[in-house]
Amino acid sequence: MRSTKAVINLAAIQHNLSVVRLLAPGTGVMAVVKADAYGHGIVQVAEALTDVEAIAVACLDEAIKLREAQIKNPIILLEGFFSQNELELSLKYDLQTVVHQQSQIDSILALKPEQYSQKKLKVWLKLDSGMNRLGFTVDDYSAAYSQLSNSVLIDSINLMSHLACADDITNPMNQAQIGIFKEATQSYTGLRSMANSAGVVAWPESHFNWIRPGIILYGCSPMVGYQGQTHGLKPAMTLQSQLFAIRNLSPGDKVGYGSAWRAKEKTRVGVIAIGYGDGYPRHAREGTPVLINGKKYPLVGKVSMDMLTVDLGNDDQLSIGDKAILWGKGLPVETIADCSDTIPYTLLCGVTSRVKFEWV
Ligand code: PLP
Repeated sequence: MRSTKAVINLAAIQHNLSVVRLLAPGTGVMAVVKADAYGHGIVQVAEALTDVEAIAVACLDEAIKLREAQIKNPIILLEGFFSQNELELSLKYDLQTVVHQQSQIDSILALKPEQYSQKKLKVWLKLDSGMNRLGFTVDDYSAAYSQLSNSVLIDSINLMSHLACADDITNPMNQAQIGIFKEATQSYTGLRSMANSAGVVAWPESHFNWIRPGIILYGCSPMVGYQGQTHGLKPAMTLQSQLFAIRNLSPGDKVGYGSAWRAKEKTRVGVIAIGYGDGYPRHAREGTPVLINGKKYPLVGKVSMDMLTVDLGNDDQLSIGDKAILWGKGLPVETIADCSDTIPYTLLCGVTSRVKFEWV
């Protein structure tokens, strides 16, 4: 069997949660497990995180999957609900929802209380503090709050906003957004939540009552130019495969599609059974490291759909079947992201269904 697999270390995720708790003491943790827990398996990760105060997903399908897997934690829909039907399902599955625009308030006000006498809705009213993506403007926020508070279906209104530039410690946008959120919410009693992972690490003033860590739980640094180990994090995903062919090359021999790489001297090229069809980035640069038996070898030639090639030099210690790590333990995914001009989020989320997953 092809041995290409993603090994998910759930103990690493629990460890990373303990790092988060030390960074933001006294706050509630809303663990973000959207997009299949950033590619790590939504149910398995949620089961490993049952002691968090809440779990955040993007959309209803993700939340229902968790409820059907018997996850009992409070669940928050970060995108909110999209229709009247989704609002009713949110009540049915006991989900909390972000409310970020007037049409959602209209849907809530249109619900008939007698149909939902046993169930009330907990909402997170979102303020757009400058990201200009989701949320009510400062001018509209209090009107939105009043409308919701007049509905008998509302159990509680908590307050939320999102940071646009938290990964950049030099960006004045952060202080500006924190100030806007503080001022707009100061007269309300609800819980306040603003910090994503970068907010947790770099912006203590953004912690308020509840934090919303995502990428940090999976072991990556949310800060530009840093790696998870700087913050004491452990990588949760190790993507691995094996060396399945070795070729001896003479000077001038070319490798792969487009004959894009040419051997300058006599060398050996190893073929690893993983490619962009598995989620390895097609545009990873020449020289991107691959770890084989604990030693780094540079990627050469173009990444193919099912395989990639590395220059083994004259290393004759290696043989077919040796384990290759593409990222994870011993090779931070942040490094591979840098070598492919992308961010760790896209690599983690992009591992395809052909790859076998193992949770340990
Ligand atoms: N909060 C919201 C509203 C989000 O959309 C996200 C993710 O994009 C997060 C929190 C978690 O972000 P991160 O993974 O950077 O911690």
